[in-house]
Amino acid sequence: MVIGIIGASISGLIAGKRLAEAGHDVTIIEKSRSLGGRLKTVELDNLNLDVGLTHFDVSTNTFGSFVKKQVEKGAIQKWTKDFGLYDGIELFDVDPNSDSRQQYTGTNGLQSLAESMSRWVDIKSEEKAGGLTYIGPDRSKKRSWMINLTDVSVFECDAVIIATSAVDAYGVLQTAQNKTETRRIIRHIDEIRYEGCFSLAATYDNQEVPDWKGIECEKSAIKWISNESSKLDTNQTALVIQSTPEFYRKHAQKSEEEIKELLFEEVSDIIGSWARRPQSTYIENWKYFKTKNPINEYFMELELEDAPLALIGDYLGGSSLENAFVSGYNLSEYWKKKYTEVTA
Ligand SMILES: Cc1cc2nc3c(=O)[nH]c(=O)nc-3n(C[C@H](O)[C@H](O)[C@H](O)COP(=O)(O)OP(=O)(O)OC[C@H]3O[C@@H](n4cnc5c(N)ncnc54)[C@H](O)[C@@H]3O)c2cc1C
Repeated sequence: MVIGIIGASISGLIAGKRLAEAGHDVTIIEKSRSLGGRLKTVELDNLNLDVGLTHFDVSTNTFGSFVKKQVEKGAIQKWTKDFGLYDGIELFDVDPNSDSRQQYTGTNGLQSLAESMSRWVDIKSEEKAGGLTYIGPDRSKKRSWMINLTDVSVFECDAVIIATSAVDAYGVLQTAQNKTETRRIIRHIDEIRYEGCFSLAATYDNQEVPDWKGIECEKSAIKWISNESSKLDTNQTALVIQSTPEFYRKHAQKSEEEIKELLFEEVSDIIGSWARRPQSTYIENWKYFKTKNPINEYFMELELEDAPLALIGDYLGGSSLENAFVSGYNLSEYWKKKYTEVTA
């Protein structure tokens, strides 16, 4: 079948890759110029810094075997088993309560992982899906669905996968013509809530690279400090500082300069006054950083035999990178069994 996937992040890319390998004709529509969604890497002073997800661990075999292959290919590296801890008063080199799980990261920014996963499918980037039109069984057109793109063109396909945040999925789905079933799904995803955060990247000149990899912070406006230099082959110091959701809620209306100042003040209290004198900076405003109340199933499907449609993403089954991956993987397994022999 011709499958149109909306969203080129980990869930859409893994589903697309596996369905393409099974013989389907897959196109991914992505509104941004770059791929990866919340896997976002920016270049600052020639260093690739992760301003989205900075690292992850592994719990399931499904994700574990994917990560193992990516480590062998050199796209992912083992980073560390221990982070530091700032408890609001004191900084510990190693979190005394750490369960020492292996943490992974990209070898040159995590966004390149998304780029390497896109090889198996066609990508239409800088194309926003504005809505969906259900053609139905008595159709004069060949395909069951039309994905309406905001440049007024359409993409016709037999099946649709929406691999975006719940908020974006809601926007796309509510335009679909078929009322009853889409309403059931819309009701579910309308309840999903997200937390936001700011991610501040900073490079430093003439500053020795710290010997810790990252610091988890408690009782602070900062949630996490990543020593990005420790992932790269460089002598230049580069940090990524993530705010707490509480800080985000309180300061979301402030200017970027004010937010930077507040975060630099806080980080210098934790790691030293040098941290408030960056060479270059970049700030990202993540309105949809993490789901607060995920749905307890890995994917949702519209039950229309002649017009398959499914939703995947990290708000289904959990709220992590691994969940997003397993969500896309599980749907692809299910659709491969359901549709491949008959239609591919
Ligand atoms: C700062 C930060 C830190 C994080 N830290 C961690 C962590 O420590 N551990 C962890 O497990 N996870 C973490 N996460 C979460 C993790 O990054 C996400 O769970 C995961 O990347 C979500 O992937 P996804 O496939 O669900 O979709 P997303 O990454 O949300 O991507 C959706 C894609 O859909 C596209 N899109 C949306 N609407 C449309 C449309 N209408 N038309 C076309 N394209 C569209 C978007 O542009 C985007 O590319 C973090 C995230 C952030 C931002």
